[in-house]
Amino acid sequence: MGLSKKIPPFYRKVISIFLNSTCVIVLFYLPIHLNENYFVDMRLVPLAFLAYLQGWIAIPALLIASTWRFFMGGDGMVPGILYGMILPTFIALIFHHRSNIKKHYIEKIFIVLLCWFVSDFPIIFIVPNGWEIFKDTAILRVSSIVVTSIILYTFIMQDRQRRFLNSHLEKMADEDPLTKLVNKRKFYELVEEKVNTLKPNHYIAMIDIDHFKKVNDTYGHLFGDKVLVEVAKILRKYECKNLVVGRFGGEEFIVYIGESDLITAKNILEEIRKDIKYTSFPYSTVEKVNITVSIGLSQFKGEMNLIETIYHADQNLYNAKRNGRDRLVYST
Ligand code: GH3
Ligand code: MG
Ligand code: MG
Repeated sequence: MGLSKKIPPFYRKVISIFLNSTCVIVLFYLPIHLNENYFVDMRLVPLAFLAYLQGWIAIPALLIASTWRFFMGGDGMVPGILYGMILPTFIALIFHHRSNIKKHYIEKIFIVLLCWFVSDFPIIFIVPNGWEIFKDTAILRVSSIVVTSIILYTFIMQDRQRRFLNSHLEKMADEDPLTKLVNKRKFYELVEEKVNTLKPNHYIAMIDIDHFKKVNDTYGHLFGDKVLVEVAKILRKYECKNLVVGRFGGEEFIVYIGESDLITAKNILEEIRKDIKYTSFPYSTVEKVNITVSIGLSQFKGEMNLIETIYHADQNLYNAKRNGRDRLVYST
């Protein structure tokens, strides 16, 4: 149930089904003998857990395990499949919900008890001295199923918590908290990867908001923050396999364009520049603020590495500022 994040979701589901059905099958061979010809096992626990926590994927696991039980044959085959597997799985499935992992402990205990009940109660009608067996084994069965469930649940919870913390930490390390764009470090990492896998040519553009200090001074830093968030949203619209956007720092953004030519790269950046220029950022119901950006573009050339390309883009950005702002500058 706690499979690595690196495995794609579909394969994670397949592995989960396989592991759970194997677990159920193994449990057939670990029965508790109640007397010479009657025994029970814990197979309902993994099935019910899978159904309760992950929903429909318990059905293929149930099918695999049922088929196995079918071919094992014997007197207890039909009730074993029906009461020991199908019923508990479907009961747990009824209670399946996305938020299952948290709280509702009483409900969880109730479901475990219900699963035990539908699995064991029919014994009364199936074997001659069924009531005696049911009565004598109830406490042992209930306690073993409840304890197993608690142990399993604790493991699952710990694993989920660990995965949640890991993804949270990863996000914090990669993401700019204000704009939610990737930060400089992650941007470098993504671009190095793209440069090594995508076809040439590769471009880097530095985008800097013009006179942003004035925006802050006039409307306040909180409004300035809002503008940065909105500019990031505009930039994100252009993101694709060949275009990566990051927050470089302050009011500066960085764009990577891969597998492109100079004209296309320039066209995209001009489109971005105009998109930002013609977007109005509402300060109040009556007052709207408009901003412009200056852009410096540079191409990866020969042995130039990313830092050198950024340096050139920054030089071009500086020239865009000097030449009157609100423009794109590219020079080699
Ligand atoms: P230029 O056209 O030359 O780029 O002028 P500018 O005012 O944009 O440039 P300058 O470098 O003088 O000022 C950048 C301003 O950006 C100053 C700083 O307060 C502001 N800034 C940087 N990061 C943030 C942020 O996260 N939030 C807000 N609100 N402002 C920020
Ligand atoms: Mg600026
Ligand atoms: Mg700046």
